Amino acid sequence: MTKRESGRKFKMYVNGAWTTGESEESFEVVSPASGEPLATVPKGTAEDAKAAVEAAVAAQDTIAQMPIRERCKLGVRITEEIRRSVKEYAIDCSLEHGKPLRESLAEVEDAITNILWQVEDLKRWDSPVQEGYSKDNVLYMVLHEPLGTVASITPWNFPWVLPAEFVVQAMLAGNSVVFKPASNTPISAVHLVECIDRAGVPPGVINMVTGPGDEVGATLVEHPLVDGIGFTGETTTGLDIAKRAGLKKLTLELGGLGPLIIMGDAKIEPAVEDIAFGCFTTTGQCCVANERIFVHEDIHDRVVRALVDRVKKIKVGFPLDDATDMGPINNRATLQKVEKHVADAVKRGADVVAGGKRVPGMMTDLYYDPTVVDHVPRDALFNKVETFGPTAPIFEFADLDEAIEMANAPRYGLSMAIHTANLRVAMEAAKRLKAGQVCINEPVYSWDYFNPWGGFRNSGLGRIAGRWSLDAFSELKTIMINVGRSPWPG
Ligand code: NDP
Repeated sequence: MTKRESGRKFKMYVNGAWTTGESEESFEVVSPASGEPLATVPKGTAEDAKAAVEAAVAAQDTIAQMPIRERCKLGVRITEEIRRSVKEYAIDCSLEHGKPLRESLAEVEDAITNILWQVEDLKRWDSPVQEGYSKDNVLYMVLHEPLGTVASITPWNFPWVLPAEFVVQAMLAGNSVVFKPASNTPISAVHLVECIDRAGVPPGVINMVTGPGDEVGATLVEHPLVDGIGFTGETTTGLDIAKRAGLKKLTLELGGLGPLIIMGDAKIEPAVEDIAFGCFTTTGQCCVANERIFVHEDIHDRVVRALVDRVKKIKVGFPLDDATDMGPINNRATLQKVEKHVADAVKRGADVVAGGKRVPGMMTDLYYDPTVVDHVPRDALFNKVETFGPTAPIFEFADLDEAIEMANAPRYGLSMAIHTANLRVAMEAAKRLKAGQVCINEPVYSWDYFNPWGGFRNSGLGRIAGRWSLDAFSELKTIMINVGRSPWPG
């Protein structure tokens, strides 16, 4: 079960056909968990990206004119195809990403739920009709119109959920799509597109080009016939895309630096559970990970003691072992960033009270202990730049004003959380925290299918999830009718 068939050679997907790409070059996908090569995938080029855009543009009318009920059926068929092989897909996801199998199973299942949710929202996607204000006898009808062709560019940390949230949704809204998946996790993307193909999505409506972001992704971003971009990834990449995209409609889901504020009156046990969940699920590689833990000085010592005890119970191991709670870090650059942030905090006076090193004797050197760093000073990298690894940096604060000021200071604003027994304090924090989502007595690491998802400030632009994804991938068009003038019958 742990071994995959060796020598798998995957292809990319353009105009309804599987292809090796114009250069016929490929790259190897190596498991961060075992170090074994899992497959090769085509190394697409700018020419491949352009060919995919041409196919998508030619297919625009096919999907835009497809009745909504037929688009809904396509969405459902895609989920049926995913459902056939959830476990197989989850194993590949764990091997190429490193997350425990139970997290991958939940993720593949989540992709299904996500798409079905969108199908329901598409059935009920309403828009206003209004009588004229400055003109008599006039009605205004507002209709949704697809953008045309959307480029979906996705990261490696959720190789199923994120493409399912962008690629299929953009199609449901009536667009043709060119999908560029992350180079660290392209196997899951290939499986999703296999399902899209088997579901009978017409040729050219959804295309996938694998290959380097700075060539394939950049070509899509700058292409004059791409009308919209749905991007999830790092803030620096998002900023670069925003500079180069021109007037395309942008939806940018970027990095977070999620703070969890634990007030002096909070219950210790659920707070510690939420820290552990938010810092170590997916090995901390989540946009809504608890990147910073702010603990009130009155309960600081008790929280840290309880957290260290909790962290000792986390079993680091091979993702396909049932006992594993946390797998390896996905890639070397992220591992090095984690090590840099821990060393930086220590240099500035912080204390490593749990972990703080790679786990010896594993199949690769990408396994890192769940780590708690206490007494982190405000000028540490932990407080400025997303770490994206299995770390819980603890900062102390004296009152709510200080905690809110620290939370908002780095100008990231995806998800933030507060634990308190006082509803007035919770609601004051909810209003003053500058984030797309504020969670009260819940972890920063929280989301659902329907709430408008997205960040303030450096965490992004636009909203997705539920009907918000459909809105993100469409334009509004007003049709104005003078119902009082001839030649209307009667
Ligand atoms: P990156 O920004 O490095 O990459 C994301 C995607 O962009 C990849 O497909 C990448 O290709 C591609 N890309 C890279 N350079 C360019 C370019 N110049 N032009 C166009 N595309 C390009 O992000 P990561 O993959 O490292 O993902 C982690 C980040 O994603 C974290 O910051 C995390 O917080 C964020 N994220 C945000 C979420 C949200 O909802 N706000 C959800 C999940 C993650 P390649 O892989 O080939 O380099």
